[in-house]
Amino acid sequence: MPGPPVTPSAPDVLATPLQYLKGVGPRRGADLQKAGLATIEDLLYRFPIRYEDRSQLQPIATLRPGQTVSITGELLSGGLRPTRRPGFKIFEALVRDSSGTVRAAWLNQPFLRDVFQPHQQVVLFGPVEQYGTGGLQLTNPQYEILDAEEAETIHTGRIVPVYEKTGSLTPKMQRRLVHDALQRLPEEIEDLLPAAVRARRHLPGRREALAATHFPAPGTPLDELNRFRTPGQVRLIFEEFFVFQLGLLARRREMDAEHKPRAVHVDDRIRESARRVLPFRLTGGQRQALKEIVEDMQRAQPMNRLLQGDVGAGKTIVALLAAVVAMENGLQVAFMAPTEILAEQHFENIRRLLAGSRFRVALLTGGARTRARRQLLAEVAAGEVDLLVGTHALVQESVAFRELGLVVIDEQHRFGVLQRATLREKGLHPDVLVMTATPIPRTLALTTYGDLDVSVIREGPPGRLPVKTVAKPDSRRDEVYAFVTQQLEAGRQAYVVYPLVEESAKVDLKAATEMADHLAQEIFPAFRVALLHGRMKADAKERVMRAFVAGELDVLVSTTVIEVGVDVANASVMIVEHAERFGLAQLHQLRGRVGRDSSQAYCILIYQAPLSDQGRARLQVMTDTTDGFVIAERDLELRGPGDFFGTRQSGVPTLRVGDLLRDRALMEEARQEAGAWLDGADRTPALVDTVRRTWAQRFGLVGVG
Ligand code: ADP
Ligand code: MG
Repeated sequence: MPGPPVTPSAPDVLATPLQYLKGVGPRRGADLQKAGLATIEDLLYRFPIRYEDRSQLQPIATLRPGQTVSITGELLSGGLRPTRRPGFKIFEALVRDSSGTVRAAWLNQPFLRDVFQPHQQVVLFGPVEQYGTGGLQLTNPQYEILDAEEAETIHTGRIVPVYEKTGSLTPKMQRRLVHDALQRLPEEIEDLLPAAVRARRHLPGRREALAATHFPAPGTPLDELNRFRTPGQVRLIFEEFFVFQLGLLARRREMDAEHKPRAVHVDDRIRESARRVLPFRLTGGQRQALKEIVEDMQRAQPMNRLLQGDVGAGKTIVALLAAVVAMENGLQVAFMAPTEILAEQHFENIRRLLAGSRFRVALLTGGARTRARRQLLAEVAAGEVDLLVGTHALVQESVAFRELGLVVIDEQHRFGVLQRATLREKGLHPDVLVMTATPIPRTLALTTYGDLDVSVIREGPPGRLPVKTVAKPDSRRDEVYAFVTQQLEAGRQAYVVYPLVEESAKVDLKAATEMADHLAQEIFPAFRVALLHGRMKADAKERVMRAFVAGELDVLVSTTVIEVGVDVANASVMIVEHAERFGLAQLHQLRGRVGRDSSQAYCILIYQAPLSDQGRARLQVMTDTTDGFVIAERDLELRGPGDFFGTRQSGVPTLRVGDLLRDRALMEEARQEAGAWLDGADRTPALVDTVRRTWAQRFGLVGVG
């Protein structure tokens, strides 16, 4: 049990636990804490979801159908009315102000009978509709019941904030608490935003901003408030972004202070060695990316670079040329892929390209403690292996290198930063190149990769045609099969992909298995069909993959294990079953499996009707464009930043007041200010320190320092 409430000294007011506010107490305090509100600061940094102007509530007599209005008045009577639909009831009430009376109706909320009492003063917000012939009604309005003594100051007669319900805290209670909390704030509170930054950007002080955000001054434009663009709101958002960027940039500067064992050196002999490996001419984008990478490698500080390029853009060869440069300098290279199959494919590919060189390439698979594996690890430790290919477990495991100079992390946007941290913990400071085929909208790149340099390969190898994409309902699959048969007869290969979602993995696997049988026996009896799925043993998977790569299979039915990286140029059709279940990024990745040579390729998205709005929008994007960056932007808009990468460890920060979509421009500005401030003369170590200490927790990100 907590002791008696104490009033903390002034600087700590923001840290005061909410249970010390009037009307909270330990029980509700615990409830709020569960919802993420522990302190006054938490409370004040939860923005209203919208604002209502209750300074001029609309007289009831002036209501018109089609308006959305706030009114206040006295509740005259209320009661439940049954409808013809069994069990479906309507709660109706009459509300009166000095100008007139209006009906309010709530559908299917019978509990309201116990909420409202006659003669209560209420505020209603909602749409006005025609009711029957003569009257008007507010339908399903949001409501607040006013208490006589507070009504004037807090809940009406002004622009009021409307909050989202939080735990057991109603919007109205929250408004009262926020009001109370603001009263307690001393005149001066600590301001994380440096005075110079505030002055330059004309941003109000922190206290003023908090007050104006929750209880806007009379006359504040309502639309500006509801777009979160008033100076006070902007200031609080800016503060959050500034602190976020400060943390990222400070960390980046720390990394730049590190020294790698040996900077790489480049001369004509090394250039020639790289050229010998190259089977084709690099595109302009590849050349530029390689130049940036090799420049980084020649510096004393470790490289921290992200190589972005759409599926098929040709990232692998760029990474391999960088690897040749490292190896020519006597350094070892770790090349990591997210799955065993991809690691194997990289290995085969790299081994082929390096066949004429003196470099030794090896593949580390599985976790089995076999003798061969021990032998390989010993060779790696002795420096007898120059390039080791494996999964992302490579750096986590007990693999010791003699001198690790370069780490390439392929097809990964999520954990690259983490792996960097793992490396550092082991006392390793190699160059790190993270490659991703997920085009990342600029806003997110600034946040998730704000501490990395970025190279982009925008265009793939010349002579590629955009993949023709259509969406077809399940009912028209006969047409699809007829088309695929033509392609197969022309000697091409096809993928059929099934979604495999965690919860129903078994069911889906069964569906995929049955489909493979059905296709093999009834649809494509003249062709060779095989199934590939995640639960197969590694060697079985490999056998199937190899056969497909070698053209010994015509149709590969697969769960999404082929999502990334696999490269079979002869495959010309990608069929995605249940396309409505896939996210845009995944669909884009899947489509990228075809169209890998100069002939026309096709992607057919088969969906199960009826489509949700989101599902329809996603398929529309896919048929409209093949530009990964456009798709990424649309994906971000459709899903929101939190879901864009899918996991919490994605590097997308948990933000309190900012919104990566709505406020993207502010993020860029905050980054510039944070950079300028770090370089500037008025920079205070105390702030950097605070930020460093609280950064990971504040933004809900895994420690990556
Ligand atoms: P991704 O960026 O998706 O990893 P890859 O590196 O697998 O793409 O390259 C896709 C395909 O394009 C591969 O078959 C590769 O050999 C080929 N390729 C890459 N660069 C070029 C180029 N400059 N000219 C011709 N083909 C290229
Ligand atoms: Mg690749």
